[in-house]
Amino acid sequence: MAQAKKALSKNGKKQQGRSSSSSPARTSAKTYYNYIGGSWVKAASGETFENLNPADTRDCVGRFPVSSEEDVNRAVDAAREAFNGWRRMPAPRRAEILFRLGEILIRNKERFAQDMTREMGKVLKETGGDVQEAIDCTYYTAGEGRRLHGFTTPAEMPDKFAMCVRQPVGSCGLITPWNFPMAIPSWKLIPALVCGNTVVIKPAEDTPLSTYNLVKACEEAGVPPGVVNLVTGFGETAGAAITNHPALRLISFTGSTETGRIVASACADRNAICSLEMGGKNVIIVMDDADIDLAVEGAIWGAFGTSGQRCTASSRLVVHKKVYKQFTKKLVEQAASLRVGDGANPNVDMGPVINADAVHKIMGYIEIGEREDGARLACGGKRLTGGEHANGYFIEPTVFTDVAPDMRIAQEEIFGPVTAVIPTASLEGAIEIANNVRYGLSAAIYTSDVNRAFHAMNEMYTGIFYVNASTIGAEVHLPFGGTKATGNGHREAGTQVLDIFSEWKSIYVDYSGKLQRAQIDAIEPQ
Ligand code: NAD
Repeated sequence: MAQAKKALSKNGKKQQGRSSSSSPARTSAKTYYNYIGGSWVKAASGETFENLNPADTRDCVGRFPVSSEEDVNRAVDAAREAFNGWRRMPAPRRAEILFRLGEILIRNKERFAQDMTREMGKVLKETGGDVQEAIDCTYYTAGEGRRLHGFTTPAEMPDKFAMCVRQPVGSCGLITPWNFPMAIPSWKLIPALVCGNTVVIKPAEDTPLSTYNLVKACEEAGVPPGVVNLVTGFGETAGAAITNHPALRLISFTGSTETGRIVASACADRNAICSLEMGGKNVIIVMDDADIDLAVEGAIWGAFGTSGQRCTASSRLVVHKKVYKQFTKKLVEQAASLRVGDGANPNVDMGPVINADAVHKIMGYIEIGEREDGARLACGGKRLTGGEHANGYFIEPTVFTDVAPDMRIAQEEIFGPVTAVIPTASLEGAIEIANNVRYGLSAAIYTSDVNRAFHAMNEMYTGIFYVNASTIGAEVHLPFGGTKATGNGHREAGTQVLDIFSEWKSIYVDYSGKLQRAQIDAIEPQ
């Protein structure tokens, strides 16, 4: 399924190699280039694909290179050539360039947010947040340029010194999804650079413009040629060429669990380091002592923010039977009142979904939900096609109630504006339901009982946990990532991300002037 999707563009048609269209908006669209070794260049084939606005597919945001293995090879060569110069630049100097990048992002925040809404649909408030996350990540991580702490530790022999320092990994491949098209690239790019690595980055085919904006800002900030290289294009071609390139020592991937598995296998085959951030099926537990209005507000924001297309989306709501009726009534009322439309319109609450393939997948899950025995479609469920919605990918905010924990809509990642309300009789029952999915990204509990909150905090096997707040809204200085099928044990953001983009080197300095054998020589007290 993941394979088939990759060949599709936002209008649901194969786009590889297509470079023109009859619509006037499309013919006037700007053509963008790859960034390789400090130059903006066409794809070797000269082919481009169209980046369409999901709120109105008559609007072509731009044309971007369809990159092939040949383009990736050139980008990797440039990254390798730049590596020694960049890694030898003292980290505080590298960080100075990144602080300048932060300033450029601040100056352009509004424009970048507008570009992002146009290419991927979420409302302007949220795309502003996406750019802000890149800004926060840049300032926070650039600060590491004056830390990048290692440690010293006593050696077991006299007149011997022991310490550990971080060294860069080398040239890295970064592969990113479309739902946070500037924030997620920045989570990878900035720590990679501060640690002294050079990179080749490939954004998702649905959102190349936001990564272009980020890379262009790197150029303006003075990142030397070859340190950051951008190739746009499709997963099976450009993405696979990055994943399989023998000179890329590390692949940092965010996307679906299905694609992550392909990336991980390719990396295992060639002994490359691989960090994966993948899917989620996140949960809010609502207890009978919760502030119900607050819980409903959190559920609406978590389930329908970014049209439910967040890895941390609140796609399951496990609600105590004593407050079930009251909670679902308010939830359904508020979900039904959300205004769906073009995210560029400030009066709109929820934008479109990303492309035709997403519409197909989400509507397929709604049909599955309607067929599941006992589940009730309490609101939404339809694609919106008339008037202002005629040329975009709009789906109503959808709530299923009376869902059983093992139903497909309660187990599989839908990645759309659909949430499933599951009744529970106890906290223990809720925790069991909450943990019983293949993913382990984010979970939340609404309760006024501190003991219950701490108990759930301890029992939930997820990478992120919230008390009296929704499952979305991570901050950049805390580690981000998940357990089980969500990840492979790494964490982005925080200082933990440095462990992805650097490797430890243990250094022993023996100043005794004689051979000292660890584990063998007896040390007598003096
Ligand atoms: P996706 O897996 O379809 O694509 C992600 C990236 O991988 C894209 O750049 C794509 O071109 C590339 N790709 C596709 N096939 C490839 C291949 N064979 N080899 C190499 N690269 C390939 O994911 P998506 O639809 O862009 O994003 C949605 C998914 O991402 C959801 O599952 C969501 O939960 C997940 N996600 C996870 C996090 C997280 O931090 N855990 C954050 C955001 C999104």
